[in-house]
Amino acid sequence: MDLGIKGKKAIVCAASKGLGKGCAMALAREGVDLVINSRTQETLEATAEEIRSETGVSVTAVACDITTPEGRAAVLDAAGPIDILINNAGGPPPGNFRDWTVEDWQKALNANMLTAIELIRLTVDGMIERKFGRVVNITSGAVKAPIPILGLSNGARTGLTGFVAGVARETVRDNVTINGLLPGPFDTDRLRGNMKLQAEKAGVPYEQFAAQHAQKNPAGRFGRADEFGAACAFLCSVHAGFITGQNLLMDGGAFPGTL
Ligand code: NAP
Repeated sequence: MDLGIKGKKAIVCAASKGLGKGCAMALAREGVDLVINSRTQETLEATAEEIRSETGVSVTAVACDITTPEGRAAVLDAAGPIDILINNAGGPPPGNFRDWTVEDWQKALNANMLTAIELIRLTVDGMIERKFGRVVNITSGAVKAPIPILGLSNGARTGLTGFVAGVARETVRDNVTINGLLPGPFDTDRLRGNMKLQAEKAGVPYEQFAAQHAQKNPAGRFGRADEFGAACAFLCSVHAGFITGQNLLMDGGAFPGTL
């Protein structure tokens, strides 16, 4: 299927690795020019070069922290008017809510709620004027079913989802959609890092621990970043203009509800 977005321009945040990179690559394969971001220059430049050489699109790499006003300004300045915005940032740390101070909460809310809202605020009116816009927020399966040790993520991401549920109904009349893409377990550095810690705690070798967890998923495996990217690219396509304010869970069927 031709997604109809060749020649469009996208910002993909936190895209040097993992799910963000999966989304950037999938959009680039559809001919979308990119501005990609993450904090570590070297990894980001390597990803930009990989995408350029595989797809031939223009890729501008902006190394900065997207959760800061300066970082957001640098990315927006480098991009100019955009058609597609993929919001993403690192997730908050796990822990026990009894240990979290207001400062911890403010950090999580800033990274996983307010940064996305601010980038939407600063780009959505241009999209509305140009009568095309696609925003995809990478959140988490925690929005559907809270993960006990990830209370900061549960709270911040659900806040973003609640805000988007409202605004996504205001923008769609002008062909600007805003949706959430909710990852379950995807085989990325973040998942591997979390599982290494858990395996250590349980006193089990990492490979064995990871294989057991993958087997517990109805799909018998973890998700792949390219699968995540393909779903993202479809939500950004010309065919998805009637889908807005939705939250697509990609978890291999792990969430047990009918709806
Ligand atoms: P990952 O493989 O660790 O990649 C994270 C990417 O984000 C890297 O490119 C990293 O590069 C960049 N990044 C982190 N903080 C940033 C910041 N402040 N500003 C700019 N770039 C930043 O992680 P992932 O698995 O793709 O996860 C992406 C998001 O999905 C996270 O919020 C995560 O919590 C969420 N999620 C993931 C899973 C999963 O199974 N993988 C499940 C549920 C939710 P630098 O470190 O160089 O900045």
